Amino acid sequence: MLNSSLQQIGSALRARKISSVELTQLYLDRIAALNPALNAYITTDAEASLAQARQADAVLADGNALPLTGIPIAQKDIFCAKGWRTTCGSKMLENFIAPYDAHVIARFNEAGAVNLGKTNMDEFAMGSSNETSHFGAVKNPWLHNAVPGGSSGGAACAVAARLCAAATGTDTGGSIRQPSALCGISGIKPSYGTVSRYGMIAFASSLDQAGPMARSAEDLALLLNVMTGFDPRDSTSLQRDKEDYTRDLDKPLAGLRIGLPKEFFAEGLAQDVAACVHAALEEYKKLGATIVDISLPNSKLAVPVYYVLAPAEASSNLSRYDGVRYGYRAPEYADLTEMYEKSRAQGFGAEVKRRIMIGTYVLSHGYYDAYYLQAQKIRRLIAQDFDDAFRQCDVIIGPTSPSTAFTLGEKGDDPVQMYLSDIYTIAVNLAGLPGMSIPAGFGSNGLPVGLQIIGNYFGEARMLNVAHQYQLATDHHDRAPQDIGLQGI
Ligand code: GLN
Repeated sequence: MLNSSLQQIGSALRARKISSVELTQLYLDRIAALNPALNAYITTDAEASLAQARQADAVLADGNALPLTGIPIAQKDIFCAKGWRTTCGSKMLENFIAPYDAHVIARFNEAGAVNLGKTNMDEFAMGSSNETSHFGAVKNPWLHNAVPGGSSGGAACAVAARLCAAATGTDTGGSIRQPSALCGISGIKPSYGTVSRYGMIAFASSLDQAGPMARSAEDLALLLNVMTGFDPRDSTSLQRDKEDYTRDLDKPLAGLRIGLPKEFFAEGLAQDVAACVHAALEEYKKLGATIVDISLPNSKLAVPVYYVLAPAEASSNLSRYDGVRYGYRAPEYADLTEMYEKSRAQGFGAEVKRRIMIGTYVLSHGYYDAYYLQAQKIRRLIAQDFDDAFRQCDVIIGPTSPSTAFTLGEKGDDPVQMYLSDIYTIAVNLAGLPGMSIPAGFGSNGLPVGLQIIGNYFGEARMLNVAHQYQLATDHHDRAPQDIGLQGI
């Protein structure tokens, strides 16, 4: 069951070969056994999960099941889930119990899925290694002293170690794709506005987008079918017709034009990652695709632009944590101002404080024109580069991350090095485009390599088709880490 697709699990549930309670218990037992070492989950609540599983079993028994009814899904701890502790990886929200459901959570509940628990993440989704979490770093299940990537590192680890059937993540600059790459799983960040941000704790609102993380493109399509859709409670949610993301999975790839951006293969890309990407391109040629050389001339500016705009938005979004209404409040203070200061000084970690300071600085009166305004103009140019590129190709392919998973602690003292791990993913968020990562083999150290597929606006179904056809022809996505106790299951 642990290696079955969501489609197969759903069939087994509907055929009553296994109950949702049994399946949920199987995962809860695995979490109890493996999570102490991996730290993928911040919160589990066996009673709450099993109660949902019992409800699902009743629906299954009635024959009214939907595709995900009874399937245990791990939720990133950035989504408010009613009655669940929702920490966003921060001491600031360590004891916060969400009073309502995020749109994404509500959609999974309506679909009959089981909430298996809340996954670990970088504090307020700021990070690329999961080391900024107040609840400790997550381990990469392929190698325990390597990072899982971030910020959705708990989700990626949980999927790779079979501690859930599938998971949710969020991606502001790469947080679904980069941990998917580093843990050898599949993940997609949809076009901006496709998944409602209601109840998803805000980091940088013009970039944040939720998406699924799973073991295959086929699974991602089923999950996207549930997660997407218009929501009037998010002013950037798009009013579009409901799509079936599985509709193109089986289409042949003959005639597909793959754009290869020369900037993605320049200095800084590890040789073993480049080798896997080139091998994947050969596979695509066999499947009938042609390769077109393209250029994204402004992509080198994506990281600096992002580190002006994302902190600017974060400094504004995080001003709500003042110790007054909810969240951490310092135990001792002399007056109101000191209460604000101490609550924020004690409640936020170092990386979050760094972002708030940068954001406040670039928005300040004297520097707004020089930094914030300039960054917004370059953001427009970056989006224009993609528009130009998509006149010549259907999808863009390249590496997801410049290297395989790095060692825990390796980049902790050097924020710029850490920021550069998102060099290939960030431009996609700045443009609002959909992007995904799928497993493309293993690097020289035996760690997974991710292949990034970037689509045009609302090109998710086509991207999933491109990914699925590759996964039919290869088995990288079926490989599991060694020591996660799969024997006999
Ligand atoms: N690693 C990037 C950052 O630290 C992106 C994080 C994300 O996508 N949430 O901001």
